Amino acid sequence: MTPSRTIVFTNAVEEAERHAPAAARPSAAGAQRSTLTGCPWHDVKSMLRDVGLRPTRQRMALGWILFGKGDRHITAEMLYEEATKAKVPVSLATVYNTLHQFTDVGLLRQVAVDGSKTYFDTNVSQHHHFFVEGENDLLDIPTTDVVVGKTPIPPEGYEVARIDVVVRLRRKSRT
Ligand SMILES: [Zn+2]
Repeated sequence: MTPSRTIVFTNAVEEAERHAPAAARPSAAGAQRSTLTGCPWHDVKSMLRDVGLRPTRQRMALGWILFGKGDRHITAEMLYEEATKAKVPVSLATVYNTLHQFTDVGLLRQVAVDGSKTYFDTNVSQHHHFFVEGENDLLDIPTTDVVVGKTPIPPEGYEVARIDVVVRLRRKSRT
């Protein structure tokens, strides 16, 4: 294949995507979400409506903080702190409840790192994580890096619902 043909092919694909109805395109997050308009407030409202959650003031405010900054990993405490800084009057209990409601309807994915730390991921597509010990930082492992080579066979009567891999990292000690 000549280089010029490759370019024509790439353009054709891009062109087809541009003309395809937005709903037909696979969403980056993998979830069924409304067409984003670029207005975070409007987007959060339709996002909540799509999953059948009433867009209350608190859900709107927390959703706006959560989803307005691209894909991120956040704990309830982190979100509570951000909400407080943004002058959103919510209690930590409300933040917890809202995060769990969002998780139940598939807007968030819960990533348990250990018994005490639970992160909520705005990227609900299948991916694994690095956890940096001591820095409490959760990073996505690129999907091109295969983590699980062979899915274990589940016991009789069970099926694998999801595989979550957390690879724990620490800084190399300088010697
Ligand atoms: Zn993630």
